[in-house]
Amino acid sequence: MSTKKTSTAKKIDTKYIFVVGGVISGVGKGITTSSIGKILQSRGYAVTAIKIDPYVNIDAGTMNPTEHGEVFVLSDGDECDQDMGNYERFLGVTLSRDNYMTTGRVYQSVIERERNLGYKGKCVQVVPHVPLEVIARIKRAAKNANAEVVLIEIGGTVGEYENILFLEAARMMKMENSGSVAVVMVSYVPLPSKVGEMKTKPTQHAVRTLGATGIQPDIIIARSSEPLDAKRKEKIALFCNISKDRVISAPDIDSVYDVPLNFEKDNVGDTLVKTLGLKKKKTTGLESWKHFFEAPKKATKTVQIAVVGKYFDTGDFVLSDSYISVIEALKYSAYAQKSKINLTWINSKDFETGKLKVSILKKYDGVLIPGGFGSTGVEGKIKAIEYVRLNKIPFFGICYGMQLAVIEYTRNVLKWKDANTTEVNPGTSWPVIDILPEQKKKLDSKQYGNSMRLGNYTANLQKGTHAYGAYGALSIIERHRHRYEVYPAIMPDLRDAGLILSGLSPDETLTEIIELPKKVHPFFVAVQFHPEFLARPLSPHPLFSAFIKASLNKK
Ligand code: GLN
Repeated sequence: MSTKKTSTAKKIDTKYIFVVGGVISGVGKGITTSSIGKILQSRGYAVTAIKIDPYVNIDAGTMNPTEHGEVFVLSDGDECDQDMGNYERFLGVTLSRDNYMTTGRVYQSVIERERNLGYKGKCVQVVPHVPLEVIARIKRAAKNANAEVVLIEIGGTVGEYENILFLEAARMMKMENSGSVAVVMVSYVPLPSKVGEMKTKPTQHAVRTLGATGIQPDIIIARSSEPLDAKRKEKIALFCNISKDRVISAPDIDSVYDVPLNFEKDNVGDTLVKTLGLKKKKTTGLESWKHFFEAPKKATKTVQIAVVGKYFDTGDFVLSDSYISVIEALKYSAYAQKSKINLTWINSKDFETGKLKVSILKKYDGVLIPGGFGSTGVEGKIKAIEYVRLNKIPFFGICYGMQLAVIEYTRNVLKWKDANTTEVNPGTSWPVIDILPEQKKKLDSKQYGNSMRLGNYTANLQKGTHAYGAYGALSIIERHRHRYEVYPAIMPDLRDAGLILSGLSPDETLTEIIELPKKVHPFFVAVQFHPEFLARPLSPHPLFSAFIKASLNKK
């Protein structure tokens, strides 16, 4: 018997907004995408966002941080671009691996489908089959999220060989249903100091290059150091074949969180609603957003936090981008406590070479040690942990930060002198941090991609601890990204030596949170997971908030 299912669910007339770059990269496509999403969300629409990275890598997990900056981890364990973090933070949503796409992923699916006879013997061609796979992925993400509006950010700038196939997908979608697709181009308008006026020519060229792919932008976001004047708007409008009110002034501003409000000054929301024929809905407005980010501007206190990490030099520049989620999480918790925050980056290597004395840390209200890999700067971080433990300076360790706290404690309290992680010293007689057994198997067979302990795992908390106090729950779920763990056999020794293992995996073999008793230290807490990935502007992360609170109390 055949049963035909008729769906009773209301069909959503989903609209798609592509965000593409013109002129140069790095002028804020991710923040533009997030901000447009925020504006439409505040107007009542269900919004989701997709990031397309045109590189061939399957994900960001195997890339060097100097190449890529922070690797953001989703609940489902996908290792992706930090823009995915911006989307989650601005929109307050949880995204999945369907929201992230690379050339590698797209080709992998096409090739797998070809091998499985999925194309039924046809000649599989770069066009249309590759863009069709892109479109299928976009539609799948839309469906997963029941989205009324989907933002799709195409990495890179127009005219690059790499993103042609993604632009082709946008063109095909627009051709299929022009009323459902809008294209926003984020351009750059330089203000050469010797010339003294803004120059629109690069934008004109970028729009022409986009035109060669068959796409005319619906909106041009003109990034610049200064606001765009009327004359420049008119020029862009005339030469780029677009009306003046669709040229948006986007000058540099101090906080990325002001961008949605800034866009609204030029009516980006109304223009998109009109372009896409969206039905008007009840709006919540951007009031709570505005209120949250205005508060610190009036705050009278400032919390001083030192982040002791490993910083990467690229040429003459130092990259702190690798810790973007940690930085944002700290800000949200400080703002929620009506405080400004001053972050100081301390390179842990400087404690090893003697360039800096570890006692410099007493200047700060709190010290955070973020995640990391490898042996660089590790001994410096361990010195820092010893100092803040003995001097009762609020301390928050994340992932590697927790593992190094365990090494410090076993070396200096349990007197296991050469205690170490096998990541740094495989021959140590005290491998207090060791590789997870399933991780060892993967590494032995050279499976490096997407192979760590990744994404959501549950931890159970112990009552009466900082951890329990912060979360107010006995069971939590947090995102992970690590290969090593506290060696389970030493858990009783750690407890005997006075450490509280306040968070454990449900089977009680994996240590998820450690802390010192409140009567020994005001706040010494470290976690194996990455709480920064769950911090959201309007719902700051409870552990970050507890750390900031303790730091403010030190004053
Ligand atoms: N390098 C450590 C591990 O792989 C910590 C990882 C991290 O800090 N994200 O377990």
